[in-house]
Amino acid sequence: MSTYVIVGGVAGGATAAARLRRRDESAEIIIIERGPYVSFANCGLPYHIGEVIPERDALLVSTPEKLRGEFAIDVRTQQEVVHIDRQARKLSVRDLRSGETYRLGYDKLILSPGAKPSIPPIPGADLEGVHTLRSIPDMDAIKARVDSGEVQSAVVVGGGFIGLEMAENLVERGVSVAVVEMLPQVMAVLDFEMAAMLHRELRDAGVRLALGDGLKEIRRTEKGRLEVVLSSGRTAEADIVILAIGVRPESDLAKAADLALGPRGHIVVNETMQTSDPDIYAVGDAIQVMNPITGQPTAIPLAGPANRQARIAADHITGLANAYQGTIGTAIVKVFGLTAATTGLNSQALKGAGIAFATSITHSSDHVGYYPGATPQTIKLLYAPGDGRLLGAQVVGHNAVDRTIDALATALKAGMTVYDLEHLELAYAPPYGAAKDPVNIAGFVASNALRGDTRLAEWHEIRDLDPERQGLLDVRSDAEWMLGRIPEAIHIPNTELRERMSELSRDKEWIVYCAVGRRAYVMERMLRQKGYQVRNLSGGWTTYSVATEAQDNFERCACEPVKEPAATPVLVETGSGAIEKPIAAAADQTADLQLNACGLQCPGPIMAVHKKLQGMEQGQVLEVLASDPGFRRDVAAWCEGTGNTLLTLDQSNGAIRALVRKTATQPQIKLTDEGGPAKGKTIVVFSSDLDRALASFIIANGAAAMGQPVTMFFTFWGLNVLRRKDPARVDKSLVERMFGWMLPKGAEALKLSKLNMGGMGTWMMKRVIKSKRIDSLPTLIASARESGVRLVACQMTMDMMGIQVEELIDGVEVGGVATYISETDKGNASLFI
Ligand code: FAD
Repeated sequence: MSTYVIVGGVAGGATAAARLRRRDESAEIIIIERGPYVSFANCGLPYHIGEVIPERDALLVSTPEKLRGEFAIDVRTQQEVVHIDRQARKLSVRDLRSGETYRLGYDKLILSPGAKPSIPPIPGADLEGVHTLRSIPDMDAIKARVDSGEVQSAVVVGGGFIGLEMAENLVERGVSVAVVEMLPQVMAVLDFEMAAMLHRELRDAGVRLALGDGLKEIRRTEKGRLEVVLSSGRTAEADIVILAIGVRPESDLAKAADLALGPRGHIVVNETMQTSDPDIYAVGDAIQVMNPITGQPTAIPLAGPANRQARIAADHITGLANAYQGTIGTAIVKVFGLTAATTGLNSQALKGAGIAFATSITHSSDHVGYYPGATPQTIKLLYAPGDGRLLGAQVVGHNAVDRTIDALATALKAGMTVYDLEHLELAYAPPYGAAKDPVNIAGFVASNALRGDTRLAEWHEIRDLDPERQGLLDVRSDAEWMLGRIPEAIHIPNTELRERMSELSRDKEWIVYCAVGRRAYVMERMLRQKGYQVRNLSGGWTTYSVATEAQDNFERCACEPVKEPAATPVLVETGSGAIEKPIAAAADQTADLQLNACGLQCPGPIMAVHKKLQGMEQGQVLEVLASDPGFRRDVAAWCEGTGNTLLTLDQSNGAIRALVRKTATQPQIKLTDEGGPAKGKTIVVFSSDLDRALASFIIANGAAAMGQPVTMFFTFWGLNVLRRKDPARVDKSLVERMFGWMLPKGAEALKLSKLNMGGMGTWMMKRVIKSKRIDSLPTLIASARESGVRLVACQMTMDMMGIQVEELIDGVEVGGVATYISETDKGNASLFI
């Protein structure tokens, strides 16, 4: 009869013991476990603290009694193996209750001692109230503090799996939480733009995020609370601090026994899980494994690998040939309403391993839009630029992320390419997926990129664009453009681009974008076939906007979850005026019309609202139901931007319900505090002198900043302010061409009305403007456009001088005197410059 001893009785240890018994009925099997429990669900610990798993006993997957009764396993808890005598094949075991030590012989030994939480070497890490989470007693200690009601606020140090799960579960318990992370992002296994979606979700849930900031010290305040001091000098007071900065292998025992260890202290094993001593096996968090993608050793502390390795060790001990195939690192985490998952390597790991890669980002619905409850899912693929072999994948979304990552993990493990993803036959019926599954779509886009059908630009490249050689083209609708845009972009909706293509310089490379990349792809194909150099922004505005917004919100002191509608104040109409009230106060409002936008993806719901409201009477209320999570933000921003009133906004079971009262006469005109139409300003720009043009735009920007609608009417010489520097070629008569040569071409070519001195005075004035950091005329024009100032070019002047619309800068409307007069009617001041 053989004696098998296992050190550690949780994930790897308990699995190995059960497998050994199934394969060898005659053996003596002994588990030595330091803690009071065996075979418990460490992965469930945060959720019991959050009371999502209300029953503590549910975490005890098995007990010593059950293991003894069902498997005849001798389980010895609260005993610690303190020494391995490899020569004699004997262990020294200390009974932690009695303090006595005894010797225990083995034929085969399995080490599954796991990993312990890292404790940073900083002052105060050992203060009472500072916790780590690994075991049931750790969980009990944290939960008891929260249950006592004495924990109002918490600082979680570390934005990895355990840190984020703790943050969410503490918020579930009504605790105000700050997460501190030394890296610029949470979840280091994700690429930045994917993690940025989690940042947004955390902020929306009321979590304060300190990113790129390390923990320097924890100290006790005079009032007895804890104060966390960060490297930047920022501080936060808390009633509890959770340290979740990572784990270190429990390999001291193996080290003392002279077993081979890797560079970071992990136990080295072969593919049958044998250590450098063939009678000693090791599994789980304490070992290093092979990463099949890099061919290099790595350490990936996850429960799935620990369980599979345990099975292989037991198989090998009992004579079954089975080999571990390595760990690719498939993992998943829930962060409030989002789920993030990864498999394979991320960009940083691929760069570190010196592996060339390309990427693609796609946003798809988790199931068909026409079936209720569809939500977006973002997939990032990382693949070999040569043969398209899948190297890594990341998925962030609301639903079915597990299904998507599992398909991708299986494909990656099988050595598939992105071309193979195009052909995967995945289950589909309307409640579950789409005939073109998100995985297929990710495969289509990556394959298109490899075949050259599309050329992708990544969001971070936008920062470094050279305006001389490159331009940004936004092909989204007007409503989407109004909700947000890349500042340097020009806007030509996809439905107009075929007619307005000549507005684009052929000398530039154009980076075209839409919301997610689909419309932009169609425009990219069209433009390329017309001879333009063009690339498509990978992931579109959706990815760019989330990756470039402010990520760190630690300075915010009172963090109210966005998910609580009552906390968000909006303007609620009362009789003649408008007052600020919590939106929940208007919850009893009834609707005149209903719009079901469920299943529509951004910008679908907003476009539908826009259209519906156009056909409604002033004062009528529209009830909108939507499932796109982005609609929460969009509808609030859209109402604010258009002057309509958001009466209520709430969310339950993934469905967003908004009540919108039509209060805007025109989309761009806002209401004043009194509820009446705003007092507009009109400015006739007659002159093309630099000083006068500057003055007119300074006034226009000022009025716009005060929420007043502004219309600028450019006539005669003033029209030159709006001319492009390098216009597309247009047909002209000789006289028209001569006018074109003689008159200044645009804002940068204007001269001073006085003291021009052959250009010297204008040059000096521009230097003064720059040195005093005053906005230049082109900047003022751009600001005016961004603020919604209407720039109207006089039709009559254009006809007279032979100037065509293609020669004017973007965003200019062409209008006659009627346009100008109708605007003056709405305003209270008109200037002639
Ligand atoms: P453990 O399961 O940690 O077991 C090791 C045991 O060995 C410990 O109980 C320890 O007391 C005992 N031991 C150590 N030294 C000795 C000794 N000398 N003598 C006697 N006993 C000893 N993984 C996932 O894949 N998904 C998740 O969602 C997930 N969530 C997690 C949440 C939390 C809070 C934690 C702590 C971990 C989570 N993990 C998750 C990680 C997962 O639990 C581990 O990868 C897995 O438990 C590792 O198994 P193991 O057998 O190597 O170590």
